[in-house]
Amino acid sequence: MQVQNDITKIESGFARQVVLDSGVDLFACYQCEKCTNGCPVTFAMDYEPHRVIRMVQLGLRQEIARANTIWVCASCETCVTRCPHGIDIPKLMDYLKQSVLSQGDKPAEGAVAAFHQVFLENIRRFGRVSEAFLMGAYQLESAKAEKKIDVKEMISNLKLGIEMLKRGRLGFMPKKTGAKEAVKKLFANEKI
Ligand code: SF4
Ligand code: SF4
Repeated sequence: MQVQNDITKIESGFARQVVLDSGVDLFACYQCEKCTNGCPVTFAMDYEPHRVIRMVQLGLRQEIARANTIWVCASCETCVTRCPHGIDIPKLMDYLKQSVLSQGDKPAEGAVAAFHQVFLENIRRFGRVSEAFLMGAYQLESAKAEKKIDVKEMISNLKLGIEMLKRGRLGFMPKKTGAKEAVKKLFANEKI
């Protein structure tokens, strides 16, 4: 995917806000690229992790929103482990995901963004992931996000789901967590 840089889209104050809200000290980054060199999915990213940090520092919010990097990141944490400053890039990526969604920007990877939202909604509702609900909601939301319905794939997934239910590999009714209040607090503390 070709992403155009546009210097007029710089948002001053964006970097400061990201640091304050996410708690990730991205000003400690000195662009050594150790994070990027260890990241297993850079081949699929529009911008490598160290570049995303620089883009945030520069206030290129819209460029970040248009790129697929934050959705491609697998949260594997290799970058944090390798970073000499322990800069928590996956945490930053998560913050940026929420920022894109809350600003109403169109995510570069609609299906991944749909999964992200459905997953969080599951946690918000039940305190843990309900696989059956997750599968069902993801099918609908990803079709909406991609504006196309793949009936063949839906039927095949439905068959797979039924088979898994029959074999007891999938719980039908969601189990709720006992730590309902703690989960509620987590969501209440969301910065964006
Ligand atoms: S490893 Fe850390 S300091 Fe180096 S570029 Fe990546 S985030 Fe910046
Ligand atoms: S957490 Fe994301 S950015 Fe960091 S190494 Fe893993 S995939 Fe790459």
